[in-house]
Amino acid sequence: MVENQTNRDVSAVWHPCTQMKDHEDLPPIAIRRGKGVWLEDNNGKRYLDAISSWWVNLFGHGNLRIGRAVRRQMDRIEHVMLAGFTHKPAIQLAERLVELSPPGLTRCFYSDNGSTAVEVALKMSYHYWLNRGRSEKRRFVCLANAYHGETLGALSVGQVPLYRKTYEPLLLEPLVAPSPDCYARKEGDTPEQHSRRMFSGMEALLERYKDEICAVIVEPLVQCAGYMRMYHPVYLSMLREACDRFQVHLIADEVAVGFGRTGTMFACEQAGISPDLLCLGKGLTGGFMTLAATLAGDEIYRAFYDDYTELNAFLHSHSYTGNPLACSAALASLDIFRQDSVLENNRHLAELMAEEAKDIEGHPNVADVRQCGMIMAIELARDGKTREPFPWQERHGRRIYRHALEHGVLLRPLGDVVYFMPPYVIKPAQVRQMMDAALEGIERAVAD
Ligand code: PLP
Repeated sequence: MVENQTNRDVSAVWHPCTQMKDHEDLPPIAIRRGKGVWLEDNNGKRYLDAISSWWVNLFGHGNLRIGRAVRRQMDRIEHVMLAGFTHKPAIQLAERLVELSPPGLTRCFYSDNGSTAVEVALKMSYHYWLNRGRSEKRRFVCLANAYHGETLGALSVGQVPLYRKTYEPLLLEPLVAPSPDCYARKEGDTPEQHSRRMFSGMEALLERYKDEICAVIVEPLVQCAGYMRMYHPVYLSMLREACDRFQVHLIADEVAVGFGRTGTMFACEQAGISPDLLCLGKGLTGGFMTLAATLAGDEIYRAFYDDYTELNAFLHSHSYTGNPLACSAALASLDIFRQDSVLENNRHLAELMAEEAKDIEGHPNVADVRQCGMIMAIELARDGKTREPFPWQERHGRRIYRHALEHGVLLRPLGDVVYFMPPYVIKPAQVRQMMDAALEGIERAVAD
C-alpha cells in the first residue's frame, strides 16, 4: 500500500522545488494525518514539523478551532466570486487585517499566495504613479539576496541565483541595493552599525533614480529564502524616511515573517514604520488554506477611484480571490492570537530555543547561529572560524535533511543553512528534539 503510493506519486506528481531524480534514492513521504507539531506517514512514523511546512503552519496541524471554522463556513457558502459580490468572512478579515497592521493601511486586496500578493503590490505601485501622471516611474528596487516568490514579476525582484538565473532573460531588471544582512558584517561591528552602513548603497540608488523608481520592496528583518539572513530594524526606519524623501513607495513583503514569526505580529513594528503596501500570505490562514492579501493606504486607493470611463481601475483578478473558506480559516487563526497570548508565549519559546542552541554554537563547522523571534538559523561551513563554505555540490544540507527524517524530524535546510521555524504550539521537549536532530545531522553530514 505504502510502496504503491510512492510509486504512483512519482509517476504522476511533479513536485515543487525538487530535482525529481533525487526521489530515486529518497522517495516522497506520504502523509496520512497531522496533529500539532506532528506529521504521520502511511507507516505510522511521525515527523516533528520543525519548519511549519514551508512556514505556513502557526498553531499545529489539524488545529480544531480553525478546522471547525472552515467546516462551519463550508455549510454556508464555499465560494463566490468577489467581483460584484461579497461575504462576511472577506469583510471581517479585511477589517481585522486593517486593524492589526501598521497604521495607515486601510484597504485589503485579496489574492491566492505570497507570489500573487507581491505581483499585486508591484502592479499597484506602478499603476498608482501612472494614474498620478508619473508614467516614467516604472522601476523597482530590491535587495541583493532577496526572495519574493516564483511568478515572473515576483522572481524579477528576487536575487537568489538558484531561482533567478535560469529565467533571467524573461525578467524585469530591478535596481539592486546591497543587502543589510548582518552575517556579512565586519568584525567589531554591531548589527545596527552594519545595517546602517549598508543603507548608503540604497540611498545612492534612490537619489540617482528617484524619478524612475515606483517602489522599493524588502523582506523586513529576515531574508528567509535567501538563507535566513537577518538585519537590524534601523535599516527599515532609514528606508521609510528615504522613501518619503524621494517619493517612492515602500513595499513590505511580510509573506514569510508576518504573523508573529519575528517576535512581533508584523516585523515592521520593530522599526516603528508603516509600509505603503504590505504583502501577507503563508501563515495568514494558520496553514490551512491558500490565501494572500496586499494592504494599501488611502492615498494609493484614491488614485484608482474614478469614473469607469477614465480606465483607472485596478483590474487585477484571480478566480478564487477572497475565498470564504480561506477567509474563515484566517479569522479563526487571528482569534487564536487574540485568545491565547501567542506573542507572549512565543517570547518564552524563542528564549528556550536560544538556550537549547548553545550546544550547537561551538561546533567547528558552525559559522553562525542567528535568531529573530521564532526563526533560528545555523550557518554551516567547512571551517566555522574562517567561514570557508563547503562546496555546494556536496549537499550537506540534504544529508542533514535525510538524517533528521530518519530520526523523526522534518528539517529542510536551505543549502548549508539549517533552520528552525516551528509551529507556535511546540513544547520544550520537542524543541530539544529538533535541536538534537539538527546537531546529530550536522555531525553525520560533516563526517561522511
Ligand atoms: N515572499 C516571501 C518573502 C516568501 O518567503 C515567499 C515564499 O517563500 C513568497 C513571497 C512567495 O510565497 P508563495 O510561495 O506562497 O507564492
